[in-house]
Amino acid sequence: MKDLMESLSYLHPEGYALVEKAYEYASWAHSYQIRDSGAPYLTHLVAAAKNLSEIKVDAQTVAAALLHDILEDTLVVEKELTEEFGAEVVSLVKGVTKLNKYQFDDSITEQAENWKKMLLAVVEDARVILIKIADRLHNMRTIQFLPPQKQQSVSMETLTLYAPFAHRLGIYKWRNELEDLSFQVLYPAEYTDIKEKLEARVENNTENLREVEMLIKEKLDETKIPYKILSRPKNLYGIYKKMERQQKSFEEIEDIFGLRVITDNVENCYVILGIINTNFNLLQNSFTDYINIPKQNGYQSLHLTIISKKKAVIETQIRTDTMNQGAEYGIAAHWRYKIQATGGSASKNKSSNNAEMNLDWLKHFLEEQISSSDSKEFINSLRMECNFGRIFVFTPKNKVISLPLGATTLDFAYAIHSDIGDTFLGAKVNGKMAGINVKLKTGDVCDVLTRKNIHPTLNWLEYATSDQAKGRIRKYLREHNLLPQKSTNKPS
Ligand code: MN
Repeated sequence: MKDLMESLSYLHPEGYALVEKAYEYASWAHSYQIRDSGAPYLTHLVAAAKNLSEIKVDAQTVAAALLHDILEDTLVVEKELTEEFGAEVVSLVKGVTKLNKYQFDDSITEQAENWKKMLLAVVEDARVILIKIADRLHNMRTIQFLPPQKQQSVSMETLTLYAPFAHRLGIYKWRNELEDLSFQVLYPAEYTDIKEKLEARVENNTENLREVEMLIKEKLDETKIPYKILSRPKNLYGIYKKMERQQKSFEEIEDIFGLRVITDNVENCYVILGIINTNFNLLQNSFTDYINIPKQNGYQSLHLTIISKKKAVIETQIRTDTMNQGAEYGIAAHWRYKIQATGGSASKNKSSNNAEMNLDWLKHFLEEQISSSDSKEFINSLRMECNFGRIFVFTPKNKVISLPLGATTLDFAYAIHSDIGDTFLGAKVNGKMAGINVKLKTGDVCDVLTRKNIHPTLNWLEYATSDQAKGRIRKYLREHNLLPQKSTNKPS
């Protein structure tokens, strides 16, 4: 409890008091219950609330997390709870309780139903899903106390439902943990295999990593720039998925871990880049500036690959604290910064509005999908949406082209062939003329029109969203001296 309250120091006093009251109330109502682990039930509630404090949610959400099982598992009824905590907290608790009614079933139809219910709840209030994921995270951390059959079904549900959701919300830290915990239950042999190999590789690389880290430290200590250096490997399930997707063995996967240099502002990111550039050999063409040109999902960082003295390849990212929060907590991080920007007061309206705003994609998606009565189709399109962030567009000859979400006709042209991109005139989408900036969606049929005397111009970069198209356009512009001086693709 002390631990939880400490992690809530960002709340204003009334919020803090609300959480304390919820804690007392939950501890009274659940007093006779214990978990399968033998621990008092309250530990689960505190753990869920603690998870949420990581992403600095408002006091109502933390209070609701402490009360999230109360209507289902105790004698407390809605009316009493409303009298004690007000309508807002109770509506969050009810949202979570409603979701609990839709237990996982192995049949795909049931699963799709779960998705729908969950999504509808999110549309009502995004905070419900955050509580539900925080709840699941703790349940996964203590899954060993469940019977084997139950472990399997809960893990399957986590892997196919909660982890993609955490991913889509950009809470990568939670996604990684949810994935690895389910992976361990569902594919124990693969899990152990990758874990052992990863540990061995970390060990073999420790010396190289340390050498590079020490030298960066030495050089940065000469400056007054604030920094910290982290090294963290990819999550195990992420490695497994990559091996599956690329049909590679563990040994063939390269970008498993590296260094992360974190500093206070953008200017210093580039100063650090300069320092690393002067003191290390970099892998050729390894530099990517995601600060100037963020990824589709808003991700920002400088990427480069250092080659150590012993020729070890060390992927390195340079980013600010804010960017790092964004990379780990996504939408939730932006939400949090919004709260901080308003003077530390966790105004519930501001924070929930902001969270809802960021869930616009979900609303649009739902509006299109909710009318669909075919559950299988629904879940397939949702999987596409959630897992991959990609769309699938057809050529007139029915070849499928996979593109990032938000891709335009121009991205499509470049995905077919760089020469087709370079001479892009326009396109026909589903038989209708479409310009360079028209966004495509899954299922569209796109026919590109080209003309030989057309060539890329600087403003094409605004219409391209895929790295491939952008890279190719930049290449053309560079070769024809059409790029403004500052945006060359190399560290200066
Ligand atoms: Mn629970």
